[in-house]
Amino acid sequence: MLSIIVPCYNEQEVLPLFYETLTREMKEVGCPYEVLLINDGSKDDTLKLMTKLADQDERVKYYSFSRNFGKEAAMYAGFTNAKGDYVVVMDADLQDPPRLLKQMWEILSTGEYDSVATRRSDRKGEAPLRSFFARKFYQVINRMSDADIMDGARDFRMMRREMVEAILSMTEYNRFSKGIFGWVGFRTYWLDFENEKRAGGSTKWSFWGLFRYAIDGIINFSQSPLSFASWSGIFMTMLAFVMLLFVVIRKLIFGDPVAGWASTISVIIFIGGLQLFSLGIMGQYIAKIYMETKDRPHFIISESNDEDVKKIR
Ligand code: UDP
Ligand code: MG
Repeated sequence: MLSIIVPCYNEQEVLPLFYETLTREMKEVGCPYEVLLINDGSKDDTLKLMTKLADQDERVKYYSFSRNFGKEAAMYAGFTNAKGDYVVVMDADLQDPPRLLKQMWEILSTGEYDSVATRRSDRKGEAPLRSFFARKFYQVINRMSDADIMDGARDFRMMRREMVEAILSMTEYNRFSKGIFGWVGFRTYWLDFENEKRAGGSTKWSFWGLFRYAIDGIINFSQSPLSFASWSGIFMTMLAFVMLLFVVIRKLIFGDPVAGWASTISVIIFIGGLQLFSLGIMGQYIAKIYMETKDRPHFIISESNDEDVKKIR
């Protein structure tokens, strides 16, 4: 059986169309399946639509969060409650085209691969500034971390149970799925497709939201920002030593004219800034450690039509 996980946050405009398209495509695939609709604290009629779909079709299960926990939590809830031997995650807005499901299923059926991941081959229809930062982000994170993250990779991915168990075993609170998928490894087939526009509704990501998510991704999968403090410290010490030598020798040769107040101040400010910046980096990691040690649940499900639902994890 295939479990289809769909995180939904305010998706009343596209959900019916999504369900229709999915059902049509799954007929083509022809395998038994369940659809796990995760309502991530929507403020519109998404939940109402979900219960309606669940009444019509017994393959549809809905899980409704007690508030908005974010897409990462929604995916985690999906993985936790999925019962299939194969699991696929996809967005509700049809930007992860259901027509690819058949091909993904066929590739997995050969047994040569453990997961089929998808990648946008272009960024058509996206703001140029956003594309630019996205590209830079992938360059930086791949240089700094050991999780290899493909540029343009989507969360749209079909995988075997083994990989799902591996993902579930990563219980970290600060989740960054693109990194987690890469980190667990397994044999992955990459499928390219052209970028699709949202079928309706609007994106949940602001530029700054995305920026913060990117920083989170780097901090979650790399320790190299921490070594920035050590390296710049060593560099500064050496520089200061050379400057000191210079000052002492000049004093011995030319005497002691009092000068250079402005340059002294600017050096002090510069070093002070560097120290604060390094402290800030440390603070980011400490904040993450703080959240991890609290061991709070990733999500709380307040309503579901699944009798064996795991409500909290
Ligand atoms: N989503 C969610 N919780 C959130 C934000 C988004 O479950 O807090 C879902 C959303 O309903 C959609 C998917 O995550 O199915 C991707 O969101 P969106 O289309 O807004 O992101 P984009 O495609 O623009 O990156
Ligand atoms: Mg989208």
